[in-house]
Amino acid sequence: MDEKIEGHCMKCKTKREMKDVEVVEMRPGTKAAKGKCTVCGCGMYKILPKNKAV
Ligand SMILES: [Zn+2]
Repeated sequence: MDEKIEGHCMKCKTKREMKDVEVVEMRPGTKAAKGKCTVCGCGMYKILPKNKAV
């Protein structure tokens, strides 16, 4: 997935672009993009809207 996804980094306390993005299913019907902060490398999650299901 080459799409750029932004998430909120807890560590940087700001919005960051995520790298190594992977789509995971958190629970049935709820997908999230899982990635890493490009700056500090800590894990980030972003819940994806249902209409954006991959
Ligand atoms: Zn960060």
